[in-house]
Amino acid sequence: MASEESWKDKYLRELDESERKEKQWQAERNVLERMLVRTSLASEGQSDKLDDLLGQLRDDLRKQQVDVERWRTLQDEIDRQITLLDESQPRSSRPPETPKEQADEGLELAADSQHLRIARRVGQLVGQLLHQVSLEPKVEAHARGLQKTLLGSNDWSVLREGLDQVASLVIEAVTRSQREFEAFLKRLDERLETLRQHFSEQTQMHESRQDDTATLDREIRDELDRVGRDIANSQDLGTLKQSVSQRLEFIGNAMERFRNRELEREEMLAGQLEAMQEKVAAMEAHSDQMQAQVRKERERAVTDLLTQLPNREAWQERLMFEFNRWQRYQKPLTICVIDIDLFKRVNDSYGHKAGDRVLQLVARELRTRLRETDFIARYGGEEFVLLLPETEVETARTVVDQLRERVAGLPFHFGGEPVSVTFSAGLTEFRDGDAVESVFDRADRALYQAKDAGRNQTTSA
Ligand code: GH3
Ligand code: MG
Ligand code: MG
Repeated sequence: MASEESWKDKYLRELDESERKEKQWQAERNVLERMLVRTSLASEGQSDKLDDLLGQLRDDLRKQQVDVERWRTLQDEIDRQITLLDESQPRSSRPPETPKEQADEGLELAADSQHLRIARRVGQLVGQLLHQVSLEPKVEAHARGLQKTLLGSNDWSVLREGLDQVASLVIEAVTRSQREFEAFLKRLDERLETLRQHFSEQTQMHESRQDDTATLDREIRDELDRVGRDIANSQDLGTLKQSVSQRLEFIGNAMERFRNRELEREEMLAGQLEAMQEKVAAMEAHSDQMQAQVRKERERAVTDLLTQLPNREAWQERLMFEFNRWQRYQKPLTICVIDIDLFKRVNDSYGHKAGDRVLQLVARELRTRLRETDFIARYGGEEFVLLLPETEVETARTVVDQLRERVAGLPFHFGGEPVSVTFSAGLTEFRDGDAVESVFDRADRALYQAKDAGRNQTTSA
């Protein structure tokens, strides 16, 4: 939440700006007040009553006591006195005829020249005012027109109207500064509200933060309420600036506290996450271990213990797989059943252990000599089964005959004498309409033909 600093900076900047405007406004106000004093001095000597009223006006200005209500009464009274003056000095466009009239005209001219002096003076002051005060373009144009009239016109009624308008112009200039300041305060208030909303939104982000965020929200809201009240009650920018700074400071501190707790929460969450990751890693390791175990057990379940060849279960599975492939692709598939010849005799002559050893060695020889794509399993006892995919029966028979010769050549020695071990085999190829059982039976029948024909040979069906 790096934006918090810039928010604060922004407000302080705005306050500085406003203070500068306030100073400018004060300067403008001074000019206007001085102008008012001079104008009133220039207007003196017309009537005692008016002099007295203008004196009061200057007094108030000196004491900085501008009581709007009282001034309104004062203004009315001044207006009345001026009207009285006007009435007591009627102007005439008719040339003077009688000596009395001529004398009156002399007085009138004196009065007129005095009026003109006032008007010209005010015109000059308006010029100064325009020099020093920034007005809205429309008001400024109006003021320029007014100045021209006051400096150029000789018609008292026009001039008096002009002087009245100068008064409204002064009010306009003053209220404009006031309005600007009010607009600034409104902007400030809106931004503080946005800030509050921003934090309030942030606070809604996570349930676990509710307590802390509620506190933060309340603290900020309270501070903003106070800012609002200060703004409403404030007459002076210095105090307001100080107050807003304090509030922002407080909000900053509250944010700091909140952030610290947020960090603690994050650390805790990070800790939990780490613990969870460790747990997951442990679970994964366990899972790997389990999978390996399952694989091993499954392997064991389909492997013959003695020969380490796939067992009858594995055979059934592989047979179905190759049978389905054969059905789909119609590539030749040959099955072979192998049975060791007169194995009973090995057992009987050299013992069961020797028989086991024979089974192991024959199995190893069969497996190592077969192609990768061929499959061999121990079907049971001293019987083995082979699956030779993409192999026609005659090719398969050649392969099996080679195997048979290899096995027959194995140098077995039992009780110091060499013993030869042979096997017989029956082969058949999968044919249209075959099922796995019928193919197996056909191979088995071929095997017995080989046995019948004298053993140590292969027969294909
Ligand atoms: P042939 O097949 O040539 O007709 O004669 P054979 O003597 O091999 O026939 P048979 O099926 O009668 O004998 C099989 C013998 O294999 C019987 C059994 O004792 C022996 N045998 C079966 N399984 C094992 C085994 O796992 N270990 C040992 N040592 N002998 C086994
Ligand atoms: Mg047998
Ligand atoms: Mg046998």
